[in-house]
Amino acid sequence: MVARLVIIGGGFAGLRALFGLKGLPEIDITLADSRDTSLVKPSLPEVAFSGKPVDHVRFPLDRVAGRAGARFVRSGIERIATADNQVVLESGERLDYDYLLIAAGARKDYDAIPGYREHGHSVCDDIEAPRLARAVEQFSGGRVVIGSARSEWGTRVETPLLQAPCEGPVGEVMFMLDAELRRREIRDRSSIRVFSPGEEFFEDVGPDVHAALGPAIAEAGIEVGTAKVITAIGPGEVSFADGDTWPSDLTVLIPPYRGPDFVFASAGLGDEKGFIPTDHRMRHLDHPNVFAAGDGTALASPKLGHIAIHQADIAAASLRREITGEGDIPEYRPEIFCIMNRGGHDATLILSNHLYGGDIDRAFSSPIAHAMKWGFDSWYYYTRGHMPPDLSEKALMEILESSWIQKL
Ligand SMILES: Cc1cc2nc3c(=O)[nH]c(=O)nc-3n(C[C@H](O)[C@H](O)[C@H](O)COP(=O)(O)OP(=O)(O)OC[C@H]3O[C@@H](n4cnc5c(N)ncnc54)[C@H](O)[C@@H]3O)c2cc1C
Repeated sequence: MVARLVIIGGGFAGLRALFGLKGLPEIDITLADSRDTSLVKPSLPEVAFSGKPVDHVRFPLDRVAGRAGARFVRSGIERIATADNQVVLESGERLDYDYLLIAAGARKDYDAIPGYREHGHSVCDDIEAPRLARAVEQFSGGRVVIGSARSEWGTRVETPLLQAPCEGPVGEVMFMLDAELRRREIRDRSSIRVFSPGEEFFEDVGPDVHAALGPAIAEAGIEVGTAKVITAIGPGEVSFADGDTWPSDLTVLIPPYRGPDFVFASAGLGDEKGFIPTDHRMRHLDHPNVFAAGDGTALASPKLGHIAIHQADIAAASLRREITGEGDIPEYRPEIFCIMNRGGHDATLILSNHLYGGDIDRAFSSPIAHAMKWGFDSWYYYTRGHMPPDLSEKALMEILESSWIQKL
């Protein structure tokens, strides 16, 4: 018998699982997404600051699904009727499933911060990043404030509870803006202040990475405030829960993350904040035929592409084992791996599992890291959602740490 699998979401996690399961005769796959394109989010800061065309950070999902032998349904999801094993689409149509993989990411809740729509900017999607590019182009010097809003998490699974969902984009925006203002020779007429809701900026990495980033932030003349919880953006200022206000001519915000609306509309599917509670095999804690991967899971902390891919590999292996009885399921071992562009040809590569009790905590700043990010993002875009083969990030890290590279 052929099992019907519906994958919700054609982002990092959904496509990784789709490619991991494609071609299996035992599985019939339908991919559903409210967008008709997949968005390469790690490239969005380049849309805002490096003139990258927005069409180079998204690609059509129908062709990707077709090539993987899956059906594509472009529709938002209204709710999941778990008792009937059906996905209820916004049109009212229903998709029957034997297995469901939820990879719908997290919702960026811009409206949770009063004044954001009128006075704020962001970089998190293909509407906000080009809008920020226009604002940066018009900026002729002044006060810039950049930071993350505080997100709240549910209580059903045990995972590190961070104040901010992912501060990598904040780091990229501040460094790339600093470089851009220097290039235009208006940096001396501008200030850049960064806020974090956490007790420390980049709360998901350990002391060695902080020791590497601290001097770079200071050298760029960027001021950082911690334990700052944004409450509103007004004309010319940003307000915080502690009563402080910071003057601002350009405010860039990573908004709070929450679960998608359809999860809230589906009784018993999400935790208190709409994230899907799973075990370490990415199986729903209460619904055995429902799996999840990526930013939309309660386990994913921080919300990072590298973790989304790792979870998708585990979810795909779990589904394969469940349906075909074959294959091994990888152990859940989250780690932080990201490359943060710093403007021009500079970037910092970060590899750390300090947050999860591990002993890896490294940062490497070099044009080589910048070339690696360019390579990863380009590969993902031009192969329509595939990760570079064989060259695992850890192997690359080892190469970067070798003595001849250190001498460059
Ligand atoms: C600006 C920025 C830069 C980043 N840079 C990096 C980086 O350099 N490295 C890194 O590792 N991570 C980075 N991240 C994080 C990374 O992009 C996310 O962790 C990753 O995209 C999560 O993948 P996902 O598949 O879970 O969700 P997503 O990529 O968000 O995909 C979710 C998919 O589900 C669809 N969907 C959502 N709701 C519905 C619905 N109701 N109905 C139907 N479909 C729906 C969406 O349209 C989307 O296609 C960055 C994030 C941002 C915002």
